[in-house]
Amino acid sequence: MKTQLAIWAGKTAGTVSQMIGNGGSTIPGVVARKLDSEFLRHLRKNSKSIIYITGTNGKTTTANLITHLLETSGKTVIANREGSNMVTGISATMVRNAPFMGWLMNDVAVMEVDEASLPKAVLECPPDYLIVTNFFRDQLDRYGEIDILIQKMKDCLKSIDVKLILNADDPFVHRFSDLQKEKIYIGLSANACRFQSYTMGESKYCPNCQKELSYSFLHFGQLGHYHCSCGFTRPEPNILAKRVYETKKGIRLIMDRDGYQTTLKGMYNAYNALFAISACKALGMESKAILNGLSSYQKSDGRMQEFFINKDTWRLNLVKNPAGGNLTLSEFVQTNEKKQLIFCLNDLLADGEDISWIWDIDMEMANRDEVEVFIASGKRAYDAALRMKYAGIPEEKILILPDMKKAVLEAKRNGLPANIMATYTCLSPMVSILSKEAEEQYKGDGYIGAVVIPFLSGYLKPVWGQGKYHLPKKEVRMEGNLPSNRGNQET
Ligand SMILES: [Zn+2]
Repeated sequence: MKTQLAIWAGKTAGTVSQMIGNGGSTIPGVVARKLDSEFLRHLRKNSKSIIYITGTNGKTTTANLITHLLETSGKTVIANREGSNMVTGISATMVRNAPFMGWLMNDVAVMEVDEASLPKAVLECPPDYLIVTNFFRDQLDRYGEIDILIQKMKDCLKSIDVKLILNADDPFVHRFSDLQKEKIYIGLSANACRFQSYTMGESKYCPNCQKELSYSFLHFGQLGHYHCSCGFTRPEPNILAKRVYETKKGIRLIMDRDGYQTTLKGMYNAYNALFAISACKALGMESKAILNGLSSYQKSDGRMQEFFINKDTWRLNLVKNPAGGNLTLSEFVQTNEKKQLIFCLNDLLADGEDISWIWDIDMEMANRDEVEVFIASGKRAYDAALRMKYAGIPEEKILILPDMKKAVLEAKRNGLPANIMATYTCLSPMVSILSKEAEEQYKGDGYIGAVVIPFLSGYLKPVWGQGKYHLPKKEVRMEGNLPSNRGNQET
């Protein structure tokens, strides 16, 4: 009865919250938990299987992909929406999907779980499967917090019966291997695909003996085929991609005999696809159904999302830490076509208020002739521009347009394909701006878009360039965030 009351109260609070314009909030979860502290424990039995996905990068894509694969095979799935990956968010998802009366069983609950929230989530609602994607330094992690975090995550798993799906290529994730659990490893063969290497290295030390790990093959960051003289060595993956090809439709993974065509763009999504394939196989899905699902998946979450503007393909990607930024850039520089880069940087709570992590992005990688324009946008556009400047990018190529709509319009006028890196709170406004621009283009804004603006922009650009939008010759924002005091940082 208490639980039923909590569900009603949570649903009501959610409706009220939506009416006053507080859309996808965690309020239903907060309210339900206030009324019934055992709420998650009670709701757990509504799902036949529960999958948690945790790790630094790839959680949302993996969760969305698994949800889609299961749904296309006819399963009923509940999933927490992006951004609600703490315990209150998981609770809110449970409230929204619970019936007003009685019990309603769903087949699978697919939940992305924030790494730090995992112990609490596991305690209240233990999963049947746990996917651990990878660990990269987040903005706050600079001094070994990853080690403490991993230990806490491992401790909370000891007493439950859970199957682990682990990234064999990440030595940090391999540290979960000493847990006495059933394990599935995923990984990529050496030379399976080509990731652009970047210079900002991740920690590559053995967790057993602290010696530097040796690599027979390095994919990117600390991911690869590692081993240590003490015996710590990459486990052999059960689910292995031997080759990954980029095709027009998306990446294609070559496994044992089968080729898995996906609609995912970007080589690093190979890992997310492998996790989804493994989880669905573990849940008993047939290969054929997985193949169907992979080739029908439509992205709309700002993760390598594509927009067609000026007959060019523009790509939008969420960037929230150096590793994500480096992967986005490494994809960006794969081709030699002329193009432009837009970096939208906000510093709100959800983005991380400390933006010093942008100095660990290997922006130097993008300093190439074919990248003709760099646009810095968002609330911290000047900081983004400064990072570009210190990467050696010529100032005349850098535009500062804090207003994201103006940034997109300017990029559209430039008539080049664009790649947009956006921090968390920039993402959703950017999706709407780009969707609108893409749509208007589709409707055909006729001669104005096709002829007049590119023609005019040749004249207008020098005028705009008079200091107003371009980086001033003198230093901008000298206070804070300059690289001079960053010498003592781990690189
Ligand atoms: Zn060692």
